[in-house]
Amino acid sequence: MGKEVKVYGFVRCANCKGIIHGVPRAHKLRKLSLSKKRVERIYGGYLCSKCTRETIKEKIRKEFKLV
Ligand SMILES: [Zn+2]
Repeated sequence: MGKEVKVYGFVRCANCKGIIHGVPRAHKLRKLSLSKKRVERIYGGYLCSKCTRETIKEKIRKEFKLV
């Protein structure tokens, strides 16, 4: 007792706070293998698909300007 309480629920996008679909809920993770914990995608489980796309576009744009 006295340990941190984990909040189980949907994973939310770090950018728009929208619910990320495709990331299983925490209480289901035990049944899944490690590789299925996260969406197999860059920023998976961190940003939603829309923001992931935007972030990658932005990154590419910046990289082209820098090079
Ligand atoms: Zn988002």
